[in-house]
Amino acid sequence: MGAFGINPLAFIFVGHPNGSSNNCSMPRPIHATIHTSALSHNLSRARQSAPDAKVWAIVKANAYGHGIELAFAGLKSADGFALLDLDEAKRLRALDWRGPILLLEGCFDARDLEVCARLGLWHVVHCNEQIDMLAAHKTSQPHRVFLKMNSGMNRLGFKPERYRAAWTRLNALPQVDEISLMTHFSDADTTKGISAQLRAFDAVTHDLPGERSLSNSAGNLRHTGALAARSDWIRPGIAVYGSAPDYPEHSAGHWDLQPTMTLGSQIIATQTLQAGDTVGYGSSFTASDAMRIGVVACGYADGYPRHCTTGTPMLVDGVRCRMVGRVSMDMVTVDLTPVPNAGMGSDVTLWGRAADGAVLSIDEVAHAGGTVGYELMCALGQRVPVVAE
Ligand SMILES: *Cc1c(COP(=O)(O)O)cnc(C)c1O
Repeated sequence: MGAFGINPLAFIFVGHPNGSSNNCSMPRPIHATIHTSALSHNLSRARQSAPDAKVWAIVKANAYGHGIELAFAGLKSADGFALLDLDEAKRLRALDWRGPILLLEGCFDARDLEVCARLGLWHVVHCNEQIDMLAAHKTSQPHRVFLKMNSGMNRLGFKPERYRAAWTRLNALPQVDEISLMTHFSDADTTKGISAQLRAFDAVTHDLPGERSLSNSAGNLRHTGALAARSDWIRPGIAVYGSAPDYPEHSAGHWDLQPTMTLGSQIIATQTLQAGDTVGYGSSFTASDAMRIGVVACGYADGYPRHCTTGTPMLVDGVRCRMVGRVSMDMVTVDLTPVPNAGMGSDVTLWGRAADGAVLSIDEVAHAGGTVGYELMCALGQRVPVVAE
């Protein structure tokens, strides 16, 4: 694992061999670019929607595939960072981040409490076993905890009717310092909304002291008013990474979010097809007329979704084109009809921002592949070199 946590090839040379460097081999042209200024923009956009709240920048899953270290460069103005893995918390401390870090799933094992104490981590408490661990924990430094309510999501947390008992138990422990109150919405991005869960939360917590943290990106952007009074800490994840939490109802542009990750590559071959010629495995695309296609150095082993098929958008030299045929492990094919001058070495943007500023939202590509922007970011291939700009 290199300094950036993703790939030791943090610096790559993108371009063409100029002939004078005969023994310099070129890397495969695929690369991901992390846009640190876009991360900052999106973070401030999240802040705007809850100006009085503190912001947990969610950096779990290696900062949604961006790399903790690279993402941190754009997110330093967050009030805290929230994640799941102790290892990622260590990496943040290694970057000299002295502010709050929250473990969103809390401790998995009693020994984790030692690490929390050593690194000054705050942690979620979502079950009685975690309270037992705290009660048995020997420490001179009380822990700051976020007590999680299961208000209807039914993953982590105490049911509303059990919540106050958990709070009372925690509050009596010398191992526990301040208790904050937290829940998570299952439908902040849909028409079902948050009202039932919010009612359950309020009914049980209205007279409890402590800071509140309720909303992810969708809650934050779509339910700003309803949540304002209970937003001591907001928890935006996907919005910070420039993807709309409620695509296709709204686009990233609608929410004024900028792409933070570009997956770029180049055309490594072209083919001229005649009517009736087919392309790729399974011959899933058949040319109806003569046409040129480009072969792009990017496949599912790079994290490009295999479920994308003919019609998925892609930018060639910044111009919107359509993918044709199937995605294979190392290559995809693109219809070059809109860009007659494109050829070997032309730049391809699989998602993100092209050199000329044209944007192809990761949400559009994800949607074409039957998934969400979250999954594409997190699934960026190990072999893709990542650079920041
Ligand atoms: C991942 C996560 C978030 C962020 O969710 P987004 O939809 O990416 O904004 C917020 N809160 C918790 C508890 C999470 O696990």
